[in-house]
Order: sequence, then C-alpha cells, then structure tokens
Amino acid sequence: MAASEKEARPAWKGKELLKRARALCESFRVTDGDRFRLRDIDPRDTLKLKSADKPRAKEALTWGIDALAEYQDMLYAQDRWSVLLVFQAMDAAGKDGAIKHVMSGVNPQGCQVYSFKAPTSEDLDHDYLWRCARAMPERGRIGIFNRSYYEETLVVRVHPELLTKQKLPPELVNDKIWKHRYDDIHNFERYLGRNGTKVIKFFLHVSKKEQKRRFLERLENPEKNWKFSPTDAQERGHWDEYMEAYEDMIRGTASEGAPWYVVPADNKWFTRLVIAAAVIDALASLGLEYPVVDEARKKGLEAARKLLLGTPKPKRGKAKKK
Ligand code: ATP
Ligand code: MG
Repeated sequence: MAASEKEARPAWKGKELLKRARALCESFRVTDGDRFRLRDIDPRDTLKLKSADKPRAKEALTWGIDALAEYQDMLYAQDRWSVLLVFQAMDAAGKDGAIKHVMSGVNPQGCQVYSFKAPTSEDLDHDYLWRCARAMPERGRIGIFNRSYYEETLVVRVHPELLTKQKLPPELVNDKIWKHRYDDIHNFERYLGRNGTKVIKFFLHVSKKEQKRRFLERLENPEKNWKFSPTDAQERGHWDEYMEAYEDMIRGTASEGAPWYVVPADNKWFTRLVIAAAVIDALASLGLEYPVVDEARKKGLEAARKLLLGTPKPKRGKAKKK
C-alpha cells in the first residue's frame, strides 16, 4: 500500500482500528452457551448503521482488510500460532462471498480453505473428526472451514438417515448422541487451543425471508443459476428444525477459548464488517510480533551482506621498488 493511502485513514489507524473492531464484534460474540437464545439475534440488525452508512462501512472494511493482511504477515513470520475460522450457515447466507471479501487482502500462501461436502466412503470409515483433523492449518497459517465438523450436529441431526450411514456401533447411537458430540467438539477445540490453534466460529444468521429472496434471484439471473441446487429448496422446508439444531449447537459448544459469532446476515456489507472485525480481534489477541533477530543471526546476516557486496579489492598502487 502506498504511504499516502495509509495516511488517508486517520481515525482508523492502529489501536483505534482495533478498538473499533473489538466494539463492533463484541455484540455478536457468544462465549457462554447457557445464556444464548437465537431469537435474541435479529438477522436484519446493523447496529443502527443505515443504508446511507454503507459506503463508509465498505471503506472501513477495506482498512480492516489491510490490517488483517498485516497481522497475517506477522502470524506467518512468527510461525507459532495458527488460526482456524469456521463458517456455518443456511444456504445463501453469504458464506462464500464473506470468505472471498474478508480474506481478499491476505497472502494466499498463508491461508488454507477447505469446503466440507457430504462425507466420502473413506471419511465414513473413520470417526467424524478425522477428515477435519487432517485439514487443520499449519502453524503460521489461517485455516478456513467452509462448513465443518459442526455439520455432524446440524444436517445429520435434521436427517437422521445420515447417522445410519455412519456405521456406528448401534449401542452408541442413542438420544445422548448430540450432547456427546457437543462435548467432544468442545474438548477437541480446547485441545487445539492448548496446542496453539486459535479457533473462532461464525454462524451467518440469515432470515427465512431473505433466503427466499436470494434463492429467487439465483433462479432468475442466468449468471447465478449455477449457485442454486434443487435440494436447497428442500432443506428450506426443514428451517425450524435447523434453527433448533443451530441454537442447541451454539449453546453446547460456545466457550471463551473458541467463541461463536452469531452474525446478522440479511445485509451482506454488515456481515462482512463484523467478520473482519472478529478476525482482527482474534489475531490481535495473540500478541503477534515479528521474530527478533539474535546476535548470532545478526552476524550471519552481516556476513551475507559482505558476501553479496563482494570483498573490496586491494587498491592498486605502484609497486614499491626495492
Ligand atoms: P454453496 O454455497 O456452493 O451451495 P455449500 O457449502 O452449500 O456451498 P454444497 O455442495 O451445496 O456446498 O453443499 C455441501 C453439502 O454437504 C451440504 O448440503 C452439507 O449439508 C453437506 N455436508 C457437509 N458435511 C456433511 C456431513 N458431515 N454429513 C452430511 N452432509 C454434509
Ligand atoms: Mg449449497
């Protein structure tokens, strides 16, 4: 970024940007499941920002994206922590677009995205965390799960026939299975935290009405037809069951170490702003800094510099007559 561009963001620089990001995402963070109720979050909420504020919000997002790139650079250089961003949502809530926009400034080398579809037969031959554990971000990287192990408590709960396909010993399939899955996921995320992976989870909360509008747009616009699958309309028929499953899941798996962000998703510009703010907040909480070069390494660097510059040749002078 040009120096002049950096100067053009006076109020949002550095600490001020972090302060605003924190204030913005805080309202949507869930760390204590017991007190969470999905109905308390309005999918249309924009924290009193109006449509007229949209251009300012978009501008703020670009500054957020720059800040995020700077944090990611340090994360990569330090090579200690990794960050896992989990995205869950009903169809057309804007997961793909949010991931694309919010991560648009980061270095692709430091970012790994996985989209989890229905499990393969190889996946089903293992425990359900297996395929996700293999996809965890390396140290220094940001991993993004577009859907995740949480599907195991959502689509699988809403469609119990999927559970039958998992070839589990029958005595393990009982009415406690969802509670067990929440506990296991909670423990898995705690394990990740203790090993240097910061986990944050997003539920993009779109309203049923807005989903319908977006589906119709996908059907009416030939360039968006590819985004629509006939099963999307069928899943919509299970809306209430999904909402119940989401609420239970968030209640069962929200924690200080791995919080959920329940992000209003009827206005894409607002959703993206909140996600960027939450990612900035998570990265800032890691206390990242560029590795300090120690004396031995400094000497090595100096030697390399001399080598590159070449050893100065002795000055040519007239040979002294003996
Ligand atoms: P898009 O925005 O492109 O529609 P998507 O994430 O919906 O993205 P799809 O290929 O349409 O991608 O859907 C993936 C499907 O895989 C979803 O219906 C999801 O419920 C299903 N899926 C993901 N994980 C599991 C799982 N563990 N068990 C069963 N189904 C799963
Ligand atoms: Mg889909």
